[in-house]
Amino acid sequence: MQGKGAMDALILVDVQNDFMPFGALPVPGGDDVVSVANRLAHAFQLVVASQDWHPPGHGSFATAHTGAVAGDIVELGGAPQVLWPDHCVQQLPGASFHSALDVTGIGHVVQKGIDAGIDSYSAFFDNNHARDTGLSGLLRSQGVSTVFLLGLATDYCVKYTALDAREIGFDVTIVTDGCRAVDLTPGDGERALEEMRAAGCRMLDSDQVLQLRG
Ligand SMILES: [Zn+2]
Repeated sequence: MQGKGAMDALILVDVQNDFMPFGALPVPGGDDVVSVANRLAHAFQLVVASQDWHPPGHGSFATAHTGAVAGDIVELGGAPQVLWPDHCVQQLPGASFHSALDVTGIGHVVQKGIDAGIDSYSAFFDNNHARDTGLSGLLRSQGVSTVFLLGLATDYCVKYTALDAREIGFDVTIVTDGCRAVDLTPGDGERALEEMRAAGCRMLDSDQVLQLRG
């Protein structure tokens, strides 16, 4: 880590208005992650934010499928897809980062879900692993070997970002108090944490991360 030629990065996953309790796809307690992000950002040389960034009529929207409602599961681009309310439409206020998020430390923004025919929960690849967002190349070019993740939501975009990061060889720490779950089915968030732990992710809260980083 520090002093060994490698750098750590903090990745803020989808800290956007539409995932806040007042947003179109509300994550309970979603706004709690903002202060955690702001506390931690200063402790990292590299902070990257992902941004769900859908064209209007995106295939993950229930409104794009005749007769469907949010929560239904369809096939999209060859992958099972949970349908959601319209959210994070490019250029609209719902796609903006929460106004209290300190964006001054964010070095890069990675936009995902830009292809109408496939969703992208992970900040690294779309759900078919066909489109690379460029995040892995960016991290590699900066000498990053360890990533710290927080954001929304634990059971979707945080989870898939973490699993992809492990799969392509990064050490991963989940900042547990900086994540909140959708919990479409109660317990989804806890199960997602278990899955990430089983994949080799380390679980720390933000106090522990700050202590670790001195
Ligand atoms: Zn989305």
